Order: sequence, then structure tokens, then C-alpha cells
Amino acid sequence: MKRIALLGSTGSIGRQTLEVVETMGYTITALTANRSVELLEAQCRKFRPRLAVCMDPEAAETLKIKLADTCVEVRSGMDGLLAAAEDEDTDVVLTAVMGMVGLRPTLAALKKGRRVALANKETLVCAGELVMETARRYGGEILPVDSEHSAIFQCLQGNRDRGEVKRLIITASGGPFFGKTKQELEGVTLQDALKHPNWSMGAKITVDSATMMNKGLEIIEAMRLYQLPLEKISAVVHRESIIHSLVEYCDNAILAQLGTADMRLPIQYALTWPQRVPGVARKLDLLSCPPLTFAPTDEVNFPCLALAKAAAREGGTATAILNGANEVAVGDFLAGKIGFMDIPRKVETALERVPVVQDPSLDDILAADGAARAAAG
Ligand code: MG
Repeated sequence: MKRIALLGSTGSIGRQTLEVVETMGYTITALTANRSVELLEAQCRKFRPRLAVCMDPEAAETLKIKLADTCVEVRSGMDGLLAAAEDEDTDVVLTAVMGMVGLRPTLAALKKGRRVALANKETLVCAGELVMETARRYGGEILPVDSEHSAIFQCLQGNRDRGEVKRLIITASGGPFFGKTKQELEGVTLQDALKHPNWSMGAKITVDSATMMNKGLEIIEAMRLYQLPLEKISAVVHRESIIHSLVEYCDNAILAQLGTADMRLPIQYALTWPQRVPGVARKLDLLSCPPLTFAPTDEVNFPCLALAKAAAREGGTATAILNGANEVAVGDFLAGKIGFMDIPRKVETALERVPVVQDPSLDDILAADGAARAAAG
């Protein structure tokens, strides 16, 4: 029996986490959302957390009225999010909030020595060293929920000496625009970008998949999680999304994790590790699998991947600048204000304009994020 605080419960990962929690018979201690009041109310009535949080203060007021007949305490804003992350009676904090807002709650939970199941990759991209150091110092744990990083984590079970790892190989579906040229990509629409071939996800990450920035962010995430240099992490296009990632060892053995494109498996493994238990994820039938194919990634027509690697190479606050600018650019693209290829252009501008600080403090990272957002806006 585990007690889970779920940050970001109304998004795609949040809703799938609740399916897993329900199957496992776990308890929910806190649920948080941005402003999806109706869904959050329904979730609160079903899972009876002690605390519910809306980031948006007006939405929190509405929720408070709706839940007046229950024992659920309602709070708002970052204070509420931190209270959910720091709850004393919680075993695992699963953070599925979108973007940089997830950083402070992650640090707060790690300082309490909690297990953090991390679906919020921006946290590790912006402040990976700080997050990993905080986990080490306070005895907290970070378990990946991202499907690629969970696959790598599964392939690393039993590995005691990281020196034996030659290379992590992250698979990429290639998104809806694989094979297109820069010129063709100038003309694509938001509707096209939101059609992901294999995974059903939130809008921001779906656009990140289309630009390949998602793979860039995942390379940085893997560097931080597994403490490996950029040269030891590569990406390969695997259109079928059946192999979720691989680890190549020094003896040339390659281990892979296969499965259906079902996020409930990595979510469940982050909650039950080191155990495995029967779960809700769909079974993979090998005999009805399509042939598995592999192709190189394309950094010329998908410059976001090259920009992410350049930021990873530079280190310090460069990755926070990359992420902050990308969040703003994707937001503008989703709002119909800019074109698809303006996303890499805006990220590149921010990386050129905002000075990089090495060995950054939390304040340096937050400042770099702010400056990057301004430069990309
Ligand atoms: Mg992923």
C-alpha cells in the first residue's frame, strides 16, 4: 500500500497515473491541477485526497465551493503545490506538471527524502545537476516516468559499474514530419503537428515531438539521470515505437525494453520499483508486431535537436535557456502566433542573446529561464 501525491493530475500522464493507482489500490494524498476545476473535482470525489491544489487562484476558489461538502482542503498557487510535494504522509510524489513550474516542488520533495516519480522532464533539463545533488544529499530518489528513460532504467537493473555502459540509445518515433525537408516544414500547420503517429500526449510534448526538441530534451534528461556525458548518449529513429530505448554495454551486448506505446507501464514501474506486479498496460504481441526499423536522426531539417545538443555541450544555464525559450515558442505556435520553423529560430536567438552561467544556483537557473522567455517572446 503506497501513498501518492500526484502533481498535475488532470493532464495525460496524471489521468493515466490515476488508472494505475486505482488498479493497485494505492492511496492519493494530494491532487493538483492548473485550472481544470471540473475534472479535478471529479478526481477528488473519487480518490478523496486530503489536499487539492489549483495553480490558478480563481479556479481554486471555485473548487473550494464545489468541494465544500467534503473534507478535502483546497489551496492555490506555488505554496499549494509545495504543500502537496512536502506532505508528511506521502511515499511517492509523482510530478506530471508541465514545464519549469515543476522544479521547486521536485526539490522540496527530495529534501524530504521522498521518492519522486518524474514525468516532468523540464526539471532535469533546466536544473539537472542541482536536482541530482539534492537527491543525493537528502536521500531522495528520482525514478523516471518518461518512457525512454524508464526503458533505460529497466535495462540498467543489475548494473553496478556505470563504466560498463558504452552507450545509451534513445529511440525516437520521428514524429509526424519524419522525412520532410526544412522547406516543407516551413508550411506545416498546427493541426499537422498535433497528429502524432504512435503516442497520445498533451499538446506541448506533441509539438516537441514534431520539432524533435523532445528528443533533445530527453538526451539532456538522460545525461543528468544516468550521469553520463553527451558522447555516451545517442538517438535513433524507430518509427514503430515498440523498442522504448536500449543500453549498449562494453562487451557489445545491447539490452532493449519492448512494449506497446502505453505510458501506464513506466508510470507503474516508477511506483512499484524494485518490484514488478501485474498491471493495466496493454500486452505486446510479438507475432503481430510490424518489422522493427531504425534510421538516423536528422539534425539538418530538425534544428531543435542540434540546438539541444549544443546547449548540453555548453552546460551551465544553457539548457535552462534552451528550455525556457522552447516553452515560450511552443506556446506561441499553439496560439497560432508563429510558424513551425519559428520555434527553432526563437530558441537559437535566446541561446545567442542570453549569457550562460556555469555551476548555476537555483536563482541563476530561474534568472536564465526568465531571460530566455523574454528573448524568445
Ligand atoms: Mg519520452
